[in-house]
This record gives sequence, C-alpha cells and structure tokens, in this order.
Amino acid sequence: MRCEIVAVGTELLLGQIVDTNSTWLAERLATFGMDCYFQTRVGDNLARIEQTLRLALSRADVVIVCGGLGPTQDDITRQAIANVMSVPLQRDPTLLARIKAMFHQRGRPFTDNNAAQADVPVGARATEAIAGTAPGLICPVGEKHIYALPGVPWEMRALFEADVLPDLLLRRGDATTIVSHTLYCLGPGESAIAARLAPRLQALDAAPKTTGNPTIAFLASDFSGIRVRITAKAADAEKARQVLEKEAYEARALLGDAVFSEGEDDPVYHLPEAVVLRLLAERGQTLAVAESLTGGGIGARLTSVAGASRVFRGGIVAYASDVKSELLGVPPGPVISEETAAHMARGVCRVLHADVGLAATGVAGPDSQEGVPPGIVCIAVAFGDDVTTRTLNFTNRPREQIRILTATFLFDMLRRKIRGQSE
Ligand code: ATP
Ligand code: MG
Repeated sequence: MRCEIVAVGTELLLGQIVDTNSTWLAERLATFGMDCYFQTRVGDNLARIEQTLRLALSRADVVIVCGGLGPTQDDITRQAIANVMSVPLQRDPTLLARIKAMFHQRGRPFTDNNAAQADVPVGARATEAIAGTAPGLICPVGEKHIYALPGVPWEMRALFEADVLPDLLLRRGDATTIVSHTLYCLGPGESAIAARLAPRLQALDAAPKTTGNPTIAFLASDFSGIRVRITAKAADAEKARQVLEKEAYEARALLGDAVFSEGEDDPVYHLPEAVVLRLLAERGQTLAVAESLTGGGIGARLTSVAGASRVFRGGIVAYASDVKSELLGVPPGPVISEETAAHMARGVCRVLHADVGLAATGVAGPDSQEGVPPGIVCIAVAFGDDVTTRTLNFTNRPREQIRILTATFLFDMLRRKIRGQSE
C-alpha cells in the first residue's frame, strides 16, 4: 500500500512551526510497512491544497492530510477534499449533536462557526473518535482514500491510532494482528543502545520481511530517555503476542540495566520521575530533594506525577552557598563537588524527615563558577547515610538542557540504586 502525507498550514511554509505531524505519521506508516514516497507541505490556499491532493492521489493509494480542519476562515481542507471528490459538503446532524455534546461536556461555549466541523463531503464519513472538538474525515475517491486529520498534534495522533490505522490495515486486507511493546531506556546514549541491540537488529534484518517476524524501531528520544519499540505481526493475537514476547525477552537481555520501564501504557506512566515514585511507594519510602542549579525543576517534575504526595515530602532550593550551609548543613568547601552534593542529599533527608534524599549542584551556565565550566554537575542519592555520588558532564549544552538532563540523570541514579539494593 502506497501512502502520501500532506501537511496543510501557511505557518509551516513560513517556518513558524515545525512539521512534526508528518514525521510522526511517516514513522507510524513505516512501522506497518506502508510505503511513503512523497510528503508535501502546502499553505492555506484552496486551489493549491486541491492541486496537492490531486497530485498525491495520482501517485498513491492513500493520502493522509493533516491541518486546516478547524472552524475558522483559513481552515479549508474539508472544502478542498469535497472539490477533489466533486461533491458538495453536507452538514451531518448526528455529528453536529455529538460535537455540541463535546463542547457541553468540556464547559466550552459552542459558537456558530463550530458547526462547520460537522460538514462532511457527500460520500465521506467522520471518524468514530473525536479527540479535540472535531472528528477526522475518511473520504473515498474512486478506489483510493483521503484521510483528513486535525493539525493539533495530540488530536492528530489520537485519531490516527483510533480510526485511520485500523481502516488502513483493513483496506490492505491484513488478516493480521499487530502488537507492540516499548522498552524505555536510560543511561547509555542512542548509539550505545543500538550497539547493545546489534545482534538482534542484524538477525531481524537478515530474516525475510514476512508476517511473523518482529521489527525493532528507535523512537525519537527526548530528555526522558530512549524508547525502543518492538512490533510483531501475526495471523492472530495469540501468535503475535508470542512473537512479541520472545523478541522483548531477547531485547531486554541485551539492554540489561538500561531498561527502566516498559509497556504500552500512556508514555506519562513511563517518565523517569513516575517510575522512581512508584518504586519508592512500593517500598513505603519517602523522598526529598535539595536542588541548586535546577531551581525547583526536580521537585516540579516529581509533583507533576499524580499521587506524588504519597512519596514526595518536599524540596529545598538551595541556590546560594549560605542557604546550602545554613539550611542543609553543608560545610565550607567547593560548592560544585560530589562532597557538597552528598551533604545536600543527607541534609535534606534530615531536615525534611525523608528516607531518601536527592541533590544536585552544578553550573548551568553561561558563565563558569569557581573555575568549573558550564555543564559540570554533581548529583547525589542518599538513603540515610548510604550516599552515592556522581559527576555529570553536559559541557557545550544549552542551559535549559543541562537543567533537564540533571533531573533525568538523578532519577536514573536513584532507580539504579534501588535496583542494586533489591538484587
Ligand atoms: P484547529 O481546530 O485547532 O484550527 P486544525 O485542524 O485547523 O485545528 P491547524 O489550524 O492547521 O489545524 O493547526 C492547528 C495547530 O496545530 C497549529 O497552530 C500548530 O500549532 C499545530 N500544527 C498544525 N499542523 C502541524 C504540523 N504539521 N506539525 C506540527 N504541528 C502542527
Ligand atoms: Mg485551524
């Protein structure tokens, strides 16, 4: 099955926003073995959107278009599709009622222009799912199909997964089930992760690309780790799951201590901060943080996790040296040192009556401090007097990255220490 992606929006052409939708869609299509030879970006112009859709349809079986489905003047994708289909738009009363109910449920006023989102080209249908306030569109054009999705990334993804992908698989005649499993990794960098997995990547590369052989994909890594997704396809769910479990078992063995979480739940569940909070909750232990260069960022990430209060007691932002000494009992000496980090972690355990203390001290930049260059960070994890420290080197990274990575590495150090204790 050959697909094309069309992203609609003048702001994409002006460089005001990055077209992450096409990247995401491309990765999903590739995962399911669907060819995508062209991706196009086009502005909010009726004639040019139409022209783009016609060209895409001439080359592909399926066109996925995202953006311009909203209720405003410049949202003209549905009209362009109707023109390509040579049909008028027709307001769907059932859909209109659903959209109104959606607004009501969210306590948002329904304005007249929102009714346009219930306009569907004759012969097309709306997606079952509604992620924001409007559905996507599934539009047959002869033997081919246009799928229209909203531009807002989370809505686009939700509708693609819920309605478009199943429809594509059905249309392709897949009498197969596809299942995936994601391994969340931290510690080694992306190339090191790839090196660990090399034996499996090579074996799968050499195996025939037929049903029953799993695939391994590296998902765009951010500062919360690298995701390795294994996907298996088989005639039935039971068989697919067997293939998946076997591959996941082998990948897990190769990745070893790099894996800090796994599964197909909401990615939020697998954030490092969520994982460490769960580990501590299972052990009935409480946590406190003493942070300098992150200025409260570590505490903010912990408290963004629902249920954090069971574990997290609080934090002290000890930015100035005298705050470190007066509140946390850090003795005089170099502030950016593992000794200081250790004193901070032990101190915050004591002051906030927590079982476990985390601490970070370092230079976020742009200037050096005490002759230490930006990007040098010392972190510590204290279980009472049992303290582990480490010096991280994020030199040449921007200030914001240094602060985010500090928190992520600190969570990873805690996770590894707990794992070490329970072995
Ligand atoms: P809305 O109902 O919000 O108007 P829409 O379907 O009309 O949704 P657009 O107006 O094209 O979509 O885009 C809405 C927002 O979604 C944009 O301002 C932008 O932030 C984001 N967006 C749109 N297209 C893309 C894209 N290709 N990649 C990433 N983000 C995008
Ligand atoms: Mg819009």
